[in-house]
Amino acid sequence: MAFVEVNNLNKYYPISDNNRFHALKDVQLSFDKGELVSIIGESGSGKSTLMNVLGGLDLKFEGEILVDGENIGHFKEKEMVAFHKEKIGFIFQSFNLVPHLSVLDNVTLAMTLSNVDGKTRKARAQEVLEHLGLKDHYQKKPSQLSGGQKQRVAIARALVNDPDIIIADEPTGALDSQTSDQVLDIIQDIAKDGKLVIMVTHSERVASRSTRVVTIDDGKIINDEKRENLHEHTDTFKIKERQENKNLSFFAAIRMALLNMKEKLGRNILIALGGSIGIMSVILMLALGKGVNDYLTDTMNENVNPIISEARMTEETQEDTEGDGEAETPAGDPDGKPGNLVTNNPAVQLSKNIPFEETNIAELETIPHVDNIELAYTSFSMGSDTVAYEEENHSFMNFGTISANMTDSNILHGSFPEFGEVIITEEMANNMADTAEDMIGEEVEVKLSVDGSPLSGNYTVSGIYTAGSAIGPASAFDSVFMTMDTFTDMNEENDLSVEPNVAYLFADEASNSQLIKDELNDLGYGGSSTDTLAATFTQMLDIFTYILSGVAGISLFVSAIMILTVLYISVVERTQEIGVIKAIGGRNKDIRRIFVSESFLIGLFSGLLGVGIASLISLGGNIAVENLFGTTILHMTPTYALFGILASIIISVIAGVFPANKAARLDPIEALRRGD
Ligand code: ADP
Repeated sequence: MAFVEVNNLNKYYPISDNNRFHALKDVQLSFDKGELVSIIGESGSGKSTLMNVLGGLDLKFEGEILVDGENIGHFKEKEMVAFHKEKIGFIFQSFNLVPHLSVLDNVTLAMTLSNVDGKTRKARAQEVLEHLGLKDHYQKKPSQLSGGQKQRVAIARALVNDPDIIIADEPTGALDSQTSDQVLDIIQDIAKDGKLVIMVTHSERVASRSTRVVTIDDGKIINDEKRENLHEHTDTFKIKERQENKNLSFFAAIRMALLNMKEKLGRNILIALGGSIGIMSVILMLALGKGVNDYLTDTMNENVNPIISEARMTEETQEDTEGDGEAETPAGDPDGKPGNLVTNNPAVQLSKNIPFEETNIAELETIPHVDNIELAYTSFSMGSDTVAYEEENHSFMNFGTISANMTDSNILHGSFPEFGEVIITEEMANNMADTAEDMIGEEVEVKLSVDGSPLSGNYTVSGIYTAGSAIGPASAFDSVFMTMDTFTDMNEENDLSVEPNVAYLFADEASNSQLIKDELNDLGYGGSSTDTLAATFTQMLDIFTYILSGVAGISLFVSAIMILTVLYISVVERTQEIGVIKAIGGRNKDIRRIFVSESFLIGLFSGLLGVGIASLISLGGNIAVENLFGTTILHMTPTYALFGILASIIISVIAGVFPANKAARLDPIEALRRGD
């Protein structure tokens, strides 16, 4: 039995639903090792079709093709891959070398796909290349070679896995006559070495060097003519034993992707830069969120006595105490005052001035872990409260009685007020005297309006108050504080009585403060002005974060689309390479892996670049902000960096899957079609 047997081979190309073209008609052929067969025929006679079928690139045929006794028509993907890797080598008219790979890498490609280790790969490729006279060209790119040299590299690639059959499609079609002769010598040698070489050719000159010439016309074999045998060959060239058939490794795929990306370096840098913008904005946004949050927490912890929880009346708690048991309409109470709709706004809540009732205080006393309650009074005015000093009125916004919630850190100069004394904020003091300190010991007249009634009295400034932060109400607003006793006295002087509107709840232990705050919240009481302002601020920050996330999300989406497009272009550009890889035994999976590796690398580089740029911006931004406000605001963490890189890789790989699948699905025959 011959090495290759073709029995009753028929090939039809579907043209339309009920129309097909009969391209190979009852072909009956057999070939043996050592033969050098030329297939000749007019253009369109079916030569390429026959080659594709014999080479296992086209499995849609009728009839039987037995290679070494095995019917290739029945091969599963795995067997076909092994067939391509071990039994068959292809040589093409247009060489089909991968342009961005070196000569050596082009030849080792088939072994790379078989996961042969690097050393063996190189040694074998060099052996074959040296034999073909290409010793000095290992590191050259195909574009740096002459036509004959290119074809010799392609022959080396076909030979390196020591196949039994070489299929050559017009191997000298693109070469001048002298180079053609050299290439034909090599091809003859291959046949003499005992391989079966099947060539397609137009040229009688090429055919004359064969041991057999098969003529095909209109899909039929019309002539099969034996020529003289090749002379016995002495300089036999044998390749070491075949390697075990494994598959393309992950690292080899990454290396191939890297080589390709290096070739299009400029383009890939631009893509990575584009991709990094999205990642950078996400990381900066996270860093900003954390920075602001850290700042708020630090500031609040610094200036707040941890054992104290502040409670304020709200309209909700007020309604509860009015206690008629009827549900209030959200639109407001009968006085026409706005209802709950507005109380949700922390800033509005803060300007409410609702006094505590007996029942409220009783309720507060029942909260678990509360040891003691201190009542105080604060009010916000839109500048109608004033301090008069040396005949000049200075308006301020925040008035309050001092409480245990204040610490020494709140006193910038001077001391806490005693009876008959007040403390004022630094900015107010600066407006009254040359330096804030000059105001200490000075007498001022404080004029307030409580529930519409004017109140006034003369007091000595004992100290300058600071909230110690930019967020505390008193540094955001000009403020005046006095003791509860002084305030009570001030009211009595004006025939009024104090109605406390702030309660300070002392916890038995600082660790229980949060429980108390939660309970206050559940009962509907408002928190401290600092908490409330912080809440307002956080709310604004949240909105800001959503907007930024939106922008960052859009840029990530744009990056993804960009990567998708670039990889699609890459697939189109590399159609021929994909065809070659398939012809030499690359599985669909391998092709997909090469392209996915590329998108993985783009993602990795974009991510690294994004993290790098974000770090630089954080660094610069923090230095600037620190100089202006004495604090940093962009808090990058390793977690954010890692998250950014991972997100970049994931997005990129997802975007890469579609083009990779397209590449994997490419038909090798289409991909390798020589443009005739
Ligand atoms: P050759 O290689 O001898 O020039 P081909 O094997 O390429 O010829 O083509 C043989 C015949 O099959 C031609 O008539 C061609 O038009 C037809 N043919 C080739 N490929 C296809 C295809 N994919 N669909 C339909 N007809 C095809």
